Amino acid sequence: MGIVIKNGAVISPTGQIAQDVLVDGEIVVAMYLPGTAPTDGHRVIDATGKYVIPGGVDVHTHFELPFGGTEASDTFETGTRAAAWGGVTTICDMAVQRYGGNVYDSLTEWHHKAAENCAVDYSFSQIVGGIDDESLKAMKYLTEHEGITSFKLFMAYPGVFYSDDGQILKAMQTAAECGALIMMHAENGIAIDVLVAQALARGERDPKYHSITRPSDLEGEATHRAIVLSKVAGNVPLYIVHMSASEALDEVAEARHNGQNVFAETCPQYLYMTLEDHLAQPGFEGAKYVCSPPIRSKHDHRHHHADLWKGLRMNELAVVSTDHCPFCFKDQKELGIGDFSKIPNGMGGVEHRMELIYQGVVQGHLSLERWVETCSTNPAKMFGMYPKKGIIAPGSDADIVVWDPNARTEIGYGKKHHMNMDHSSWEGWVIDGKVDTVLSRGTVLIDNDQYLGRKGHGKFVRRGLSNYLV
Ligand SMILES: [Zn+2]
Repeated sequence: MGIVIKNGAVISPTGQIAQDVLVDGEIVVAMYLPGTAPTDGHRVIDATGKYVIPGGVDVHTHFELPFGGTEASDTFETGTRAAAWGGVTTICDMAVQRYGGNVYDSLTEWHHKAAENCAVDYSFSQIVGGIDDESLKAMKYLTEHEGITSFKLFMAYPGVFYSDDGQILKAMQTAAECGALIMMHAENGIAIDVLVAQALARGERDPKYHSITRPSDLEGEATHRAIVLSKVAGNVPLYIVHMSASEALDEVAEARHNGQNVFAETCPQYLYMTLEDHLAQPGFEGAKYVCSPPIRSKHDHRHHHADLWKGLRMNELAVVSTDHCPFCFKDQKELGIGDFSKIPNGMGGVEHRMELIYQGVVQGHLSLERWVETCSTNPAKMFGMYPKKGIIAPGSDADIVVWDPNARTEIGYGKKHHMNMDHSSWEGWVIDGKVDTVLSRGTVLIDNDQYLGRKGHGKFVRRGLSNYLV
């Protein structure tokens, strides 16, 4: 027995078409004119008045990440279940090698954490925090044999994940040889650490100083430097993660204009939140919104929100991810009471990205097609999973979300909130739309506000090379 999704508007980057979708087993097998798909012996899902979109692909999550003296509070089990609730059917988490650690061991560890625990399909990018001959060799091996084709480096966090320019160049040269994608956390961490120490010495200890000590110019500078290094390394594909600042966007736009293989993602928090309204809340509340790069000021001379939305429209930004890295308030964020530099960096968002970016459609920032493209199709292409993921077409995995534009979603603790956190980063937000039904490889995970999935359904996705180059 298959599944027929009838009478919906199927959305892809190239438009919306009224179609029926026939799913057999794990894949989409055919599309029909509306109302004409055979229904005999099939389960029928009526999508009249609704959008039918490819399942979301979130290429930037951190489940169970040890960081800042604690560990991100979502496991692969709770995090991928929350992803399903949010219409996300594929996640790509970050396996972590630190300086002195072994790349293969860290990848094995991440496979162990995820195996048999995921509700949706998953893959990994590999963080390389210690670049030496051995880890460079491992990058090649992972690309050629393990289906891990993207590697994340850091220009921030000296002493933890940081690589210097020489190490970055070597890693980029290696990626250029084997066709891998370099993901970059682009902030000048050496300069930031000086500003943080100076602020603390002045007695500036509240959460808002997390943003003030990480100025947007230092994100722009690092982005520029990464782009130059990628050019010197032979135009290796470079993907700037979690972009928050207009200065950084300018650099990516210029590089793209010059034909370089430079791309970027942003995250919902950088499109909606501000230093004044979130980080600078009274008391210690602002700790909930500490992430890096930081939430920016609405009084900067640049309009970061407006510029980032424009960047999404203009394809200067190709992807929206979440950088999902949740910490509870109690005992976790609280580690930084009296010292903002000790607040674990990260927010929870894997459940709400599709909703929050859809709200951008409602507000006129993006088209419906661009919503699907930046949240599903482009991430699948960028990370070598297309057309298995990221599109509804015959032969593709039946990862499908039925989206109801006439219903509403109230986000918040005790409302819609399935992440393993004791608060919501998006408390009180109301979205003009709703995840209605979610299919992952033909299995219904969410239906009628009920979770029907199970841990262990999600499979590891071996990825090919990026098919998104210039
Ligand atoms: Zn991250």
